[in-house]
Amino acid sequence: MYQKSDLRGDSPVSIIGAGIAGAWQALLFAQAGRAVTLYERSDADMTLSTSHWAGGMLAPYCEAETSEPMIGRLGFRSLDLWRELFPDTPFNGSLVVAHPRDRADFERFAKLTTGHVRLDASGVGQLEPSLDGRFRDGLFYAEEGHVEPRKVLPELHARIEAAGGTVKFDCDISAEDLDGIVIDCRGLSARDEQPELRGVKGEMIIIETSEVELSRPVRLIHPRWPLYVIPRGDGKFMLGATSIEAEDTGVSVRSALELLGAVYAVHPAFAEARIVEFGSGLRPAFPDNLPRITVRKNKIAVNGLYRHGFLVAPALAELTLAYVQRGQIDNEVMRCV
Ligand SMILES: Cc1cc2nc3c(=O)[nH]c(=O)nc-3n(C[C@H](O)[C@H](O)[C@H](O)COP(=O)(O)OP(=O)(O)OC[C@H]3O[C@@H](n4cnc5c(N)ncnc54)[C@H](O)[C@@H]3O)c2cc1C
Repeated sequence: MYQKSDLRGDSPVSIIGAGIAGAWQALLFAQAGRAVTLYERSDADMTLSTSHWAGGMLAPYCEAETSEPMIGRLGFRSLDLWRELFPDTPFNGSLVVAHPRDRADFERFAKLTTGHVRLDASGVGQLEPSLDGRFRDGLFYAEEGHVEPRKVLPELHARIEAAGGTVKFDCDISAEDLDGIVIDCRGLSARDEQPELRGVKGEMIIIETSEVELSRPVRLIHPRWPLYVIPRGDGKFMLGATSIEAEDTGVSVRSALELLGAVYAVHPAFAEARIVEFGSGLRPAFPDNLPRITVRKNKIAVNGLYRHGFLVAPALAELTLAYVQRGQIDNEVMRCV
């Protein structure tokens, strides 16, 4: 049983881990007037976080193909919070396309998801002129958005400080050293406390070209992975992402071939693009691949964001805040131990 006095009132709130989970927690608590300190072992570039490597798609409709309804519920609420707190977030939708050989998988994707309109070849060309004549049809999910992780994380950190919170980088800290409420958002590093966590490797490549322009993430139906290309501005594109049950780092030749082959299939002009970066991150996942808020007295752990960190982090922060401020419990997401 937690002690209410530990959670309410003036207790300081310490958050460990400034990835997307911890950053949203810190922002909502700071905006609610709590004394917040966010500790991060990485420097401000956040290269030690999984969040640094993410695509940043806010795509609850497309993700419904492979995920449980809980992700949709948290995702839709998060879209509202992104819109409200970061009104500049691009909500240009997502486009899904397929080559004729993957037609059956395309139809399956259409059946398993909602929130899309079907486009014919001219519709695809109107939406993305660079893709004119490349695809017979497509699915357009108009309500989806995307953020650029390497821009939005520093923005979140700045907003936390503007709301009165403190962000301490280069600070590897343990919950035992902290008083008050501690929110553990350490991602995969929290395995010492949550041994069920595993890492699911995601590989990505950044390329650069002025030959192709895209206004939104484009997903290519692929028999093994949901591959996509995301415009990052200044002629840069992120290609992602594999999903491999392994915890090594780096990018394999096989994955590089698959990712580069996919982007070449989206548009052959990508063949002339310059490769800027190869990288990979380990998605923190519980066995059910669903996020979880675990409450143990004055310690709260937010983890298991798997492949949906950017999509669900705002809603998870709202749930944690509602619990601390009002004792409200979301039975689907929270476990009190
Ligand atoms: C290639 C790839 C593509 C992805 N694309 C998407 C996408 O398009 N959309 C989406 O929603 N999600 C996507 N994801 C998933 C998303 O990246 C993760 O769900 C999310 O980053 C997990 O965030 P987190 O804050 O829980 O963990 P992390 O980002 O890993 O943050 C944990 C932080 O805790 C810090 N830390 C650990 N221990 C300590 C300590 N003792 N003291 C201080 N700090 C500590 C770490 O340095 C780290 O910065 C993708 C992931 C990958 C790998």
